[in-house]
This record gives sequence, C-alpha cells and structure tokens, in this order.
Amino acid sequence: MSDAPEKKDFKAQIAELKIEVAAQLVIEKTADAECPFCKNSEWFLETGGGLSPAEDAAPVFLMKDPRSFLGPAPSFATVSLSCTNCGFVRLHNASVINGPKS
Ligand SMILES: [Zn+2]
Repeated sequence: MSDAPEKKDFKAQIAELKIEVAAQLVIEKTADAECPFCKNSEWFLETGGGLSPAEDAAPVFLMKDPRSFLGPAPSFATVSLSCTNCGFVRLHNASVINGPKS
C-alpha cells in the first residue's frame, strides 16, 4: 500500500501554515529585538529541512504530547529564530502570527 496520500496531506498542511508570511511578520514585529541573555540584536531564521527548500523558512513543531496512537503526535507550528551570538532560540506560534489582525 502506498503512503503517497498521507505525504500529500502533510505537504498541503505545511503549505497552509504560510510559514514564509509568518516569518516575515515575526521579523517585522520584533525588529531590533535584543537577546535576553547576551543583548545581541541579530537573529537567524530556521530554514530548510523536511519539505522546505534549503533557503525557505521552515516551521519548527513543538510536540504537545509525545504519545501517538493514530496519526502524528499533537503539536503546533512555530517560527524559530536563533541568536547569532549565543544561540538562544526563540519560538513564535505561527497560528497566532497568521491569525486575525487586531
Ligand atoms: Zn544571545
């Protein structure tokens, strides 16, 4: 039995995240943000991996529960930025960033 339909569904789910849009909004909303540990203000965006091309923003999934019985473990997508000096990692919930404008 082929697993192609499941992969297609996952690819569609990744596209629906609009992670590139979320990443751009995070960068705009937090421009000049300082690292809480070293005060550096330069960050790099997590890119590539999984289904994302190497140069594109890639979602990082936070697992809510490692147990999985049917389908993937419960998780949510984030935009990940790392401090270029000390490596501190900050995560922004993609569904909040891409949610309704207030
Ligand atoms: Zn830092």
